[in-house]
Order: sequence, then C-alpha cells, then structure tokens
Amino acid sequence: MSGHLMGVYNRAPLEVERGQGVRLWSTDGTEYLDCVSGISTNALGHAHPKLVEALKAQADKLWHVSNIYRIPGQDELADMLCDKSFADVVFFANSGTEAVECAIKTARKYHHAKGNVERIDIYGFDGSFHGRTYGGINAAANPNYTEGFGPPMQGFYQLKWGDKDALTAAFESPTTAAIILEPVQGEGGCRATPDEDLRWMRDMADKHGVLIIFDEVQCGMGRTGKLWAHEWAGMTPDIMAIAKALGGGFPIGACLATAEAASGMTAGAHGSTFGGNPLAMAVGKAAFSEVSSDAILNNVNEVSAYLRQQLSGLQERFPDVVVEVRGKGLLLGLKLVPNNRDFMGWARDEAKLLIAGGGDNLVRILAPLNITLEEAREAVEKLEKTCAFARTKMAG
Ligand SMILES: *Cc1c(COP(=O)(O)O)cnc(C)c1O
Repeated sequence: MSGHLMGVYNRAPLEVERGQGVRLWSTDGTEYLDCVSGISTNALGHAHPKLVEALKAQADKLWHVSNIYRIPGQDELADMLCDKSFADVVFFANSGTEAVECAIKTARKYHHAKGNVERIDIYGFDGSFHGRTYGGINAAANPNYTEGFGPPMQGFYQLKWGDKDALTAAFESPTTAAIILEPVQGEGGCRATPDEDLRWMRDMADKHGVLIIFDEVQCGMGRTGKLWAHEWAGMTPDIMAIAKALGGGFPIGACLATAEAASGMTAGAHGSTFGGNPLAMAVGKAAFSEVSSDAILNNVNEVSAYLRQQLSGLQERFPDVVVEVRGKGLLLGLKLVPNNRDFMGWARDEAKLLIAGGGDNLVRILAPLNITLEEAREAVEKLEKTCAFARTKMAG
C-alpha cells in the first residue's frame, strides 16, 4: 500500500479489481455482492454493456475540447434532461458538489440580477450532505466537515430538519435567497421530507420570492422509484443539483434550473474546464436514457417493495440488531443497535456483501437500479446471515 495518498479516507481493507453487474471482485479473487454501487453511482451495475460501448466509441472520436466551442453531446443531454424534468436550462459540471456550487451561485445571482442584492442567505438543514466544496460544507453545516476549515461563510444558515417555525421565519426574511434540501437525505440517514411539507415549501417560496434548490445528487435519477424524488410530492424546485448516477460511474454533475431562476447566469458568470466533456456526455446520454426508462423505474418499485417487506421481516426476527427500516425506493437504510461500521465489516467479511454507512448509525443498501429479484433475494440472505453473526458478536 502506497504511503503517498492523502489520508482523508477511512478505507475498508478491500482492494478492488473488476466488476460485472451487481458483482465486484477483489484483487485476491473474492466475489462480493455490491449493494454500495459507488454510493448510488453505478446505478446500472458495473460494466454495463451500453455504457462501455458508448465510452469506447467516443474515446476513438474526441475526448476533450474547451467550452469555447459547441459540444453537441451537451445539447443532446441537456435536451434529454429538460424533456424529463421541470428545467429549461442545464450547466454541466464534473461532480455533485460542483453541481451544488453552481446551484447556490445561480440562486444568489438571480436575486442580484433582479436588483434584490440583499437576498444572499442560503438555508440548509441538519443531517444533509452537499459535498466538500466550501459552498457545500457551509450549506450542510455538518461540524464533522467544517471543523478546522476556517470561519463559516457569510450568508449560510442551518435549520433543524422538520422545524417548520424556523423555516417559516427563513421564508419571511427579506434577505433570504434560497433554501437547499435533499428531498430524501442520503448520507444523513435516509430521511424523506413528507410530501405535504415539500408542497408547503413551494407555496411559501412563491409567496415570499425565495428559490428552492433541491440536491438530488443521490436521491434523483430513479433511485426512489420515480425519476426525481420530488415527483412523489407533485411539486418542483427552481434549481436542482444532480450527479452520481447521471453518468453511471463516469464523473459528471449537472445543475438544472428554470429559465427564470437561471436568468442571472449570463456569459462569463460561471464555467468549468472539464464540465460537459465529450466523454462524459456520451456516457451520460447512454446512462440517463436507461435510468429514465419505464423498465428501470418499474424494477426499482418492484424490488423495493420486496426488499422493504424482507427488511421488515429481518427487523422482527432481529429486534436486538435492527431498530428501524427507512428510506424510499432503493435508497434503503437500516438503523442498527450495533455500531454501523462494525456491521458493514461483518457483512463484508462474513457474508461477502457490500453495504454503505450512513448518519444516525445506519447502514444503507444501495443496490443498482437494475438488480434482479433473484439478486435482491441473495442480498437479503446475506443480510440475514450478518444479523445472525451480529447477534453472536453482541452476546460474546
Ligand atoms: C454525494 C453527494 C454530493 C457530493 O457529490 P460529489 O460528487 O462527491 O461531489 C452532494 N450531495 C449529495 C446529496 C450527495 O449524496
């Protein structure tokens, strides 16, 4: 193991070699069932043939040009995204946190362009995650990610998730630019904001001239069983950050907005060297046309119903291990009695099952969206085995 990597990751002792569908192999040849999916990123599993083909074909043609030229793939993917969402315009970035960064800038610039220069305040919520740029960590205000990085940025405030009085005051404040929210929190513990609360936020935002930014980097792209998580509530944001599953594993992010919300983003306001790169656009088009298909969305809902029922069964049989089943679609979480990091290690070593951690002592089961019922059954067996193992560990 090289000692030359910055020590920012708490890595599992697993060196990966290759993947196929929901399977992942380590360099020592061990096969794992991968229900981490690069944290909701490889939504079509590993090495999906359509994505491999799209990448290879583009690699022979053109890798990179500057955004000073027109890149046809950007027009095509932007058309696809706007066809299937509330948005009129798209900015392409390379990651989730850059998409969030663009979203925050778009919101502030909107008010500035309208002459409401005092509207700069951005309200986020506890338990949220918006990536690791300064904008991202200040919007989420999780002390684990902000500590030691200097003073908090001006104009960022955090509300307690579910505190409607505080949120009402935020909407009513004349200096508010936007609120930023994950409709279903990923990292923070698979908490879904109730549909009626999302609709109420839309009404309040309209009434007070505030913008709504959704961070659907994790919960979007079919993960909850609808293409966008906010569709469950029958409302739309003004601005939305997406990434992760958008490229099926290729680095890409995007900030979507209504024409009105993006009205301040004129030439020169923002940019990126690699954002919207031809390779990313080729894979993004292939991945998005799959994840937005009825076949995938139906599969998510079918497998999700099965998994929820099975996970509830596990909770009944192992109340000493599993406290609660949470989440939506295939963004599922188990709140545990034993330490979630221990449980992830047991799943990996004893059952060859890969699952992710999450806030509030959760493990997240983030299967690829095209996982079959048969493979989901296998995942449940492995979870059951892990729960039984956890019981013996906790007793001993
Ligand atoms: C992962 C994630 C991000 C950050 O994405 P990066 O690609 O790591 O920058 C932002 N928001 C949410 C909700 C995420 O899950």
